[in-house]
Amino acid sequence: MTSSYRINYQLRAHKRDPLIEFIKGLLLTPFILHAKPRKPVLNSPVGGGPDLPEERNDYQEEDKPMVDANLQRYLEIMKSVEVMIEEHRRKALKGVPEHSRLHRIVPSVASFFTPLPLEAAFLDANAKHSIAARRFVPPSFNDIRRILNTAQVMAIAPTINLITFDGDMTLYDDGTSFTDNSPLIPLLITLMRAGLRVAIVTAAGYPGDASKYEERLTGLLRSFGNQQLSEKLLERFYVLGGECNYLFRCGWKQTESGSAVVGLTYIEPEAYQPADMLAWKHEEIQELLDVAEENLKRNVAAMNLKAMILRKSRAVGIVPTNNGKIAREQLDECVLSTQQRLLEYQQMSGPSKIAIPFCVFNGGNDVFVDIGNKLIGVQVLQNYLGAAPDATIHVGDQFLSTGNDFATRSSCCTLWIVNPEETQDVLKELTPLLKFPAEE
Ligand SMILES: [Mg+2]
Repeated sequence: MTSSYRINYQLRAHKRDPLIEFIKGLLLTPFILHAKPRKPVLNSPVGGGPDLPEERNDYQEEDKPMVDANLQRYLEIMKSVEVMIEEHRRKALKGVPEHSRLHRIVPSVASFFTPLPLEAAFLDANAKHSIAARRFVPPSFNDIRRILNTAQVMAIAPTINLITFDGDMTLYDDGTSFTDNSPLIPLLITLMRAGLRVAIVTAAGYPGDASKYEERLTGLLRSFGNQQLSEKLLERFYVLGGECNYLFRCGWKQTESGSAVVGLTYIEPEAYQPADMLAWKHEEIQELLDVAEENLKRNVAAMNLKAMILRKSRAVGIVPTNNGKIAREQLDECVLSTQQRLLEYQQMSGPSKIAIPFCVFNGGNDVFVDIGNKLIGVQVLQNYLGAAPDATIHVGDQFLSTGNDFATRSSCCTLWIVNPEETQDVLKELTPLLKFPAEE
């Protein structure tokens, strides 16, 4: 795939993040104004004689680099965005977030549950990636995404008590399992030792089947066991599957041979699901999934996809046949058209029926429609474990509108990473800032 193709596709509305685009646009001005040499540099042309005029070389470094002025401007901009976010938070507390200046400039901006020290985070990122010293590559989408992550980590560290992770591409590569040598394992144990509750909130849905999740997390659970973690520590680890539908807690278990291993235990929905979730009727769930399935079948036929329908009790999706690949545009088309179809269906059903929440997302090489979503997943955990939005953080890789981590933004702080290596980076930033209780 060519890079210009990638760039063009990234410009589609459902592939952009308006807040990051806004900050990127602001930083482009100092990049142009201050990264350019202030005075022309004179030198002789190649083979030039005494009669020829000296030629200006625009690309030569100037005597005194402008890095400092450039950094100064970048910091001023980050500080001003920081102040705008504070104003937005104040208006939100008064119940009128739409009156903030930030909302007027970026109407789709989400809630902020903590301040964001963007100026300090920029300095940190600049030390790592020399952003202000760059003269040909302006601050990029990924630079800003990482700066927002660093700022969020700095702000939440003193109060955090619940951290939730997406599974695929956040903790391990797509469709794979947690391996024993994953560098994330010691970091997750450090979080638990610091008293945090750690949960994996994943789309993977195996109704009530602990063994399937244990299989995906083999390396992690085995490491917990090898390190003889106490039951008290293990109780801080949870898995929530099917976005919000199947909750498991971690602990020591007896195997049939009588030996003790670390595993997962299913928690009955009545123990943690709120009344409105328990009220979702089986028939209505199936009706919604029928509509989704019909639309997905239509997509498969219309685009001639080599894919089959996979129906589960609380999900329906399309997966490629014969280990094939489905093009990203076709996956996004399935997502956007199914989202639209289900919203129309719910609107037509009228107010007599409870609109069951759902989530349609592009899983990288498949498309799934799940009952419920990660917003409900995070809220369920917040209520069950007693964690406020400003003490909760969700780490995931799918924060575009066709992704399933996006929904969590309205209930907690978030970190947008793109692969397990970046998850490791953010945890390495977070863990030194945590306080550890004396008991451990
Ligand atoms: Mg993911």
